[in-house]
This record gives sequence, structure tokens and C-alpha cells, in this order.
Amino acid sequence: MTDTSSSQIEPAAGRACGSCTMCCKVLLVGELQKPPGVWCKHAKPGQGCGIYETRPGSCREFFCEWMLDGKFGPEWKPDVAKFVVSPLTGESNLLIAVDPNFPNAWRRDPYHQQIRQWVKTCESMGRFVLLRIGGRCIALLPDKEVDLGAVGPEDDVFVSREMGPAGFVYSAQVRRKAV
Ligand code: SF4
Ligand code: SF4
Repeated sequence: MTDTSSSQIEPAAGRACGSCTMCCKVLLVGELQKPPGVWCKHAKPGQGCGIYETRPGSCREFFCEWMLDGKFGPEWKPDVAKFVVSPLTGESNLLIAVDPNFPNAWRRDPYHQQIRQWVKTCESMGRFVLLRIGGRCIALLPDKEVDLGAVGPEDDVFVSREMGPAGFVYSAQVRRKAV
């Protein structure tokens, strides 16, 4: 799990997107009002970006976890895994954006085992793992999964915990953007 908050962002040695265009489908692109889980109108799936020279800043700056961390094997490349892991930035939670055509791809191993490990690591950092499948969001908490249903890009997800008889009990809630 890479934290890019204070580091120079460079792909790991030998890493290249190649024919992967998964982030152009699963991620939100604010500058284009592109919702998560649908192809960007400029994407050429399996080939690249149709407006590469003038693509938005968020596209220029984005590298997925597979691009940044050379220890993840080819099975973790997003077009193979069918999900994109975004690195940690600032105070963010860890975001895993899943291709809606393969909503359970992340439940397979080795992915699921590693994701549960990230849940523990994030908890120790005061962060959490959020899974997005198009507009739907699932909070992966240390003691449970909470399916939050539809969560808009401007909504916030809050996680809290209380001490129970057998340790912390976690809960997650959506705070909707006021309209
Ligand atoms: S998901 Fe990662 S490997 Fe795939 S195109 Fe985006 S940055 Fe490149
Ligand atoms: S503008 Fe290009 S790089 Fe950005 S999401 Fe669309 S196709 Fe991908």
C-alpha cells in the first residue's frame, strides 16, 4: 500500500500501463463530470486515451497501486484483476474501484486476503478501506462489511467505533451532500 502524500510520484521500475485502461472506466473524473464505473467518452478501451495530450490534470497525475508498487505481480494489473487500487493521499481512505461487470472480482484470492490485510494496516493509521462499484460503495471495516448503497461523489463516508465486550465494534454512515 503506497502513501503518496509526501513522496514524488513515479511508477515502479519497468511498470507501464500498456493496454490497460481500467482507471478510465472505474474512477470518477471530476473535470469531465465522468461518474465512476462507466467508460470515459475519450477512452479507447484496450488502447489508451483519445485526448492524451490534453487529458485532465487528475488523469495526468494518477498512478494506480500496481503502477507504483513493483512487488505486486501481473495478476494485480487492473485489467486482469478487474479493479483499481488508488494509493493513499493526504488523509484519504484506501479506495478500491471495481469494474461493475465483475463486481465480485475482489473477493477472489489472492486479492481478498491482501485486501483484508490492508483493512488492518489502514485501521492502524486511522484510515479505512472503501470499495466502489460504480455508484455503490462498500465500507470494509475490521469487523464487518457495510454496504452503503449509492454514494455520490460529494457525499462523505464516516466510520466510527465503540468498545464492546469483545473489542471495537465499527459502523459506517453516509453523510449526504446538502441540497
Ligand atoms: S489502472 Fe493503472 S495500469 Fe491501468 S491504465 Fe490506469 S494507471 Fe495504468
Ligand atoms: S481523459 Fe483520457 S486518461 Fe482521462 S479518463 Fe478519459 S480516456 Fe482516461
